[in-house]
Amino acid sequence: MPAVPKVSAYEIATGNFERAADLLDLSPEWRTLVRTPFREMKVEVPLYREDGTFTTFIGYRVQHNGARGPFKGGIRFSSLVDEQEVRALAETMTYKTALVDIPFGGGKGGVNVNPPELSKRELEHVTRRYVSRIHLILGPNRDVPAPDMGTNAQTMAWIVDQYGRQHGYNPAVVTGKPLELGGSPGREQATGRGVMLVTLAAARDHLGKAPADLRVAVQGFGNVGMNAALLLAERGATVVAVSDHTGGYYNPDGLDLDDMAAYARSEASRYTLEGYTGADHVSADEFMGVECDVLIPAAIESAIHSDNVDSVQARLVVEGANLPVTPRADAALRDRGVLVVPDILANAGGVIVSYFEWSQNFQQYRWSLDDVNDRLERILLKAYADVKEKQEALGSTMREAAFALAIGRVVSAEKLRGSL
Ligand code: NAD
Repeated sequence: MPAVPKVSAYEIATGNFERAADLLDLSPEWRTLVRTPFREMKVEVPLYREDGTFTTFIGYRVQHNGARGPFKGGIRFSSLVDEQEVRALAETMTYKTALVDIPFGGGKGGVNVNPPELSKRELEHVTRRYVSRIHLILGPNRDVPAPDMGTNAQTMAWIVDQYGRQHGYNPAVVTGKPLELGGSPGREQATGRGVMLVTLAAARDHLGKAPADLRVAVQGFGNVGMNAALLLAERGATVVAVSDHTGGYYNPDGLDLDDMAAYARSEASRYTLEGYTGADHVSADEFMGVECDVLIPAAIESAIHSDNVDSVQARLVVEGANLPVTPRADAALRDRGVLVVPDILANAGGVIVSYFEWSQNFQQYRWSLDDVNDRLERILLKAYADVKEKQEALGSTMREAAFALAIGRVVSAEKLRGSL
């Protein structure tokens, strides 16, 4: 079970917003308008378990801001999901889509359910029930979900099917689908690919290091962490440590990531690294303190906090997860000269390729994998360059610059629409 975060996602989102809003000299009225969600839905999700018992889960969909386009953001299945967390993640999506300048707003959904405790059939039932409760506010031009923690392409397939039963088949209602149902080549690896691209760019600019000179630690070995680790190793970096919720694994000479990925992808290991014997085990605290150049938190919120920030050895932190660094830890890292690449830039690769998938669905056309990867790289590295330029102009952190750029774009769209 993941540890309960010490600082809530909402507190982290508030810290991110307020520091950038100060730099923009945003009025209190505008702060309230931008931060207040457009619409929030809270629904019951009942389930008859296969053992004959009966449970009711709670699901959420928060549409934070749609000034720049349809609401866009993942659906999370986790036992830590609550209203505040989904609200904070929806707001984060608003700034992410604005920063990489794709035509979406921000939204997020979630069900408070622990997927490993449910069978595949039960998970399908939960997904369909949840969608049957929220379908009226979804739609290709209204709100377009995607996978997040605890959900995957199979979950998206159930969503497109369930939505289609009420509205007619339309693959553009959700992204991150299997290829057979209108998914995009490259979507599954896209977030990890984006993490790899910004890691290499920031390592070059901040550390003056080439990929082959990099030692990397990755927290989380799911969609984002595993793909980021594999792609960084493919580019020549040495991944010395990875962890998942069952424990950490360390090899100063570099882990055998293909072996670890095969292990973690198998049903026998219940899709975790638990029981893996190919590397030394380290505790969660030891993992945070391993000697490396780059630390990539790619699992949970609030992973780097005031109690463990002093042990971080890396000089570059790349936020693969959403909201993984608390405001106090962020300030401590800044004071020590550690560069933090913020989530809204570092993990935006997923939503960029979701945008490509949505576009392909409208075109009824499939792009090649090379085309997807080339366009992803261009959009993400342009956003990286924009943030660096803004950072230099403001004399700020990378996070403050990224949020200032993004919030400025949302305010500008609201003004053009005549919202206030
Ligand atoms: P996932 O469910 O595929 O994987 C999550 C991983 O984190 C698992 O390996 C799990 O074991 C591990 N984990 C959980 N608690 C942990 C703990 N306490 N310590 C170490 N590891 C722990 O989820 P994902 O899709 O990879 O998402 C991870 C993060 O990335 C989330 O913050 C998510 O919002 C963010 N994100 C995901 C995407 C995407 O496309 N999937 C896009 C952008 C951001």
